[in-house]
Amino acid sequence: MMKRLWTGALLLGMLACKTTTPVAVQTPAAPATQLTPYGPAWAALWQQQSGEYKALCLQAYQLAALRLDQYLAQPHHLPLAVVTDIDETVLDNSPYSVHQALNGKSYDEKSWVEWTAKAIADTVPGAPAFFKYAASKGVKVFYITNRIEAERAATLKNLQRYGFPDADDQHLLLKTAGSGKEPRRQQVLQQYEIVLLFGDNLSDFAATFDKKPAAERNATALQSAASFGNRYIVLPNPMYGDWEGALYNYQYKLTPQQKDSAMKAQLRNY
Ligand SMILES: [Mg+2]
Repeated sequence: MMKRLWTGALLLGMLACKTTTPVAVQTPAAPATQLTPYGPAWAALWQQQSGEYKALCLQAYQLAALRLDQYLAQPHHLPLAVVTDIDETVLDNSPYSVHQALNGKSYDEKSWVEWTAKAIADTVPGAPAFFKYAASKGVKVFYITNRIEAERAATLKNLQRYGFPDADDQHLLLKTAGSGKEPRRQQVLQQYEIVLLFGDNLSDFAATFDKKPAAERNATALQSAASFGNRYIVLPNPMYGDWEGALYNYQYKLTPQQKDSAMKAQLRNY
């Protein structure tokens, strides 16, 4: 379509010139890409179609199983638990990102709740096998998610569809007050020892990452190197997350154009 338009514009330009002198034709630059709201479609395509995404997830969960075995072999004073995020950690919401991007929209709570109400999200590769393995060893699974109360029933239904263990009210800790997960982790720690944490967002692991500027998140991630692949098991999510919000200071009310400008200003070129 674009090519046809340009060809048309070129013909019109040549007719207007009324001269036999060859016209220097400049190849038009590619239309400027807008990172938001369209960018997540590219990320979702990678999540849906690349073997590499699947391999990374399997790598994370297989390493988690090795770690779990190590921790199980150690002495413990409390019952053991693992804590996991849900979205892009155990459930794959890439169809939502595709749907919004192709309609020229970013995330909004109403459309998100409409999507999760369907309870049809697929699983992140390796997640069902790992959590079933953990449960078989007597380890409890707690789901700490920033899904809201209105999503409770559909969330449990989606998890139960794939046989995730402990998919019940008692083990599902939804967002109540703030989005920070530390109070909910502390709640679990009152009765359990948390041996592993799973997430696609650094705030799934420690409060030190909560709502921090991008540079600080990056520095803290590097300083926390010893935790990754150890207590912290990280899943890939290039579609959304605090990494993106940090680029525009978590000002989610900005227009897509304003967010786009803020993000483009942080692209490293040469
Ligand atoms: Mg998540």
